[in-house]
Amino acid sequence: MIITCIPGGIFMENCYIVGDEASGEAILVDPGEQINEIREEINSSELKITKIVNTHTHLDHVAGVQTFKKELGIPFYIHKEDQPVLDVLTEATKRYPGFEFVEKPDVDGYVEDGETLTIGNLKGQILHVPGHSWGHVCFVFDGHIIAGDTVFAGSVGRVDLTGGTSMEELTGSIKKKLLVLPDDYQIYPGHGPSTTVGIEKQSNPFLQG
Ligand SMILES: [Zn+2]
Ligand SMILES: [Zn+2]
Repeated sequence: MIITCIPGGIFMENCYIVGDEASGEAILVDPGEQINEIREEINSSELKITKIVNTHTHLDHVAGVQTFKKELGIPFYIHKEDQPVLDVLTEATKRYPGFEFVEKPDVDGYVEDGETLTIGNLKGQILHVPGHSWGHVCFVFDGHIIAGDTVFAGSVGRVDLTGGTSMEELTGSIKKKLLVLPDDYQIYPGHGPSTTVGIEKQSNPFLQG
């Protein structure tokens, strides 16, 4: 499998392309403001993007969705509980003057906890990990976790943005859903560098005890 990280935008958000080499199929996860960089990566890659699946719908993670839905003619999926977060996207955008107007994308379908996420011959699992937002999901593929804004290297997501609940719920769901995975599983967060389950279990100050 191929995981390509494309960071960018004013929040330095990480967009990911997750691909299956054997079939040449790929998905786009969290396409943000860095539309040109993402487009360049797609054009220079042999992979064919078949769908957009988001971890959650904060503006820095959805700013590019409508552009790529149109350009590639592909559907967009989220967890149902993040629909209310997406519904207030236009209002949220106004709070950040540096952010250009973002067209709110239409959702084509919902994903659920425990569901299989298929990319060509590759099969992953969808995990609902709420706290940072109501409908936040992570994607687990054989040794790799696309974690969105749940856990970062040495930190965790905020709980004071739209859809955020409490630090207890966030750290509780990270421990229950992600830290139970093998220590050598690689974590690819929505911001900043990648890390591993083992490192975060051992040294993340928010996840001790
Ligand atoms: Zn977020
Ligand atoms: Zn984010």
